[in-house]
Amino acid sequence: MTDLLLPRRCAGCGAPGGDLCRRCRLALRTPPQRIHTRVDPHVPVWSLGAYAGPHRRVVLAMKEHRHLAVRRFLGPVLAAAVTHLQARGELVDAPVLVPAPTRAASARMRGGDPVTDVCAATGLPVSVALRHGRRISDQVGLGAEGRRANLSGALELRRIPAGPVLLVDDVATTGSTLAASSEALFAAGCEVAGALVICHA
Ligand SMILES: [Zn+2]
Repeated sequence: MTDLLLPRRCAGCGAPGGDLCRRCRLALRTPPQRIHTRVDPHVPVWSLGAYAGPHRRVVLAMKEHRHLAVRRFLGPVLAAAVTHLQARGELVDAPVLVPAPTRAASARMRGGDPVTDVCAATGLPVSVALRHGRRISDQVGLGAEGRRANLSGALELRRIPAGPVLLVDDVATTGSTLAASSEALFAAGCEVAGALVICHA
């Protein structure tokens, strides 16, 4: 409702006028780069940028502020990153995007899971294959080991993705969510080609 009453502002910098200004669109156009997380997810991880500036604010907008227009915009950004990785030969096959699982309660508060929405907006095949099988605590405030313990064995496979998987998440911090995700997929015999995140902390 507030969206209708307030003037639209850029989700990346707050400038009035639209959902995402030209400068922030350009900032998000950076090619994906290989990153290394503290917890090894056993697959290559690529990020579109550091958790700062427009990347950080766009992620916060789509997560915390239920900015649905930004989720739709980020779909093509992610699709372009996949094309980049394929052109560079780092991603060989056409992947099936698998969103990293989110806690159901957070997804409800956020107006649906933002990462799943972004994946759906890429136009690429998506499989919502992973979910939390038991209650887990919020990851915020936990260190790398705590996060790993919190997630260990907590993920369930709802279905087998039809092809090599590219995991997708909004932010990689310790890498524990990606590691738990790839472990659950590997355990089911799936091929995981890598993980792509919008930004890394
Ligand atoms: Zn902006």
